[in-house]
Amino acid sequence: MIKNYQPTIFVVSGPSGVGKTTLVKRLLEEDDNLVFSISTTTRKPRSDERDGREYYFVSREEFERLKEEGVFAEYALVHGELYGTRKDLIDKELSSEKDVVLDIDVQGAAKIKSSYPNGVYVFIIPPDERVLSNRLHGREGRAGEDLNQRLERAESEMEHAGDYDYLVVNDNIEKSIALLRAIVSAERCRRERLWL
Ligand code: 5GP
Repeated sequence: MIKNYQPTIFVVSGPSGVGKTTLVKRLLEEDDNLVFSISTTTRKPRSDERDGREYYFVSREEFERLKEEGVFAEYALVHGELYGTRKDLIDKELSSEKDVVLDIDVQGAAKIKSSYPNGVYVFIIPPDERVLSNRLHGREGRAGEDLNQRLERAESEMEHAGDYDYLVVNDNIEKSIALLRAIVSAERCRRERLWL
């Protein structure tokens, strides 16, 4: 890591079904100085998921207790379940000189900006409606939402794209990964110069 480097957070967001999680996983595989911010959620683990790896899985009561303690930098209701980002966990990683990457929904990304105004905000855009529709098809939607409603929600979420520092059109995974890597490198260089 660069001497006198000031670690930061990379917030990766965008509409549901755009491929954020896949991109973030790939980015993490290749960068030892980047750690994943493990969110806390009330949703049930999928068969291949482990507590403390993809998420901290908690009951609604536990989530409410953590909320009252004020540990979350942001939380949101996604697909009828609660998801939250713990500020204490992020700050621990930042103080150990690691950059942190977050994978959160559009609502959460807007909220976390007040805690981390100097973070790097990246919005992932689907290449077109057909691709997004294919990706959303068969995915679990929010309670009571059909495919058209999910597409409408994705479209309204895309109106927030202009609030972000970077936009990445995810039409090809290798190209998107290369762009994300370039964003991380550029921001690291910028922070080095600011500090010296
Ligand atoms: P999944 O349950 O499929 O892993 O994630 C569902 C959605 O929740 C995704 O859009 C993901 O980006 C979002 N998400 C994951 N963790 C958090 C979080 O801590 N806060 C917010 N606001 N959204 C999150």
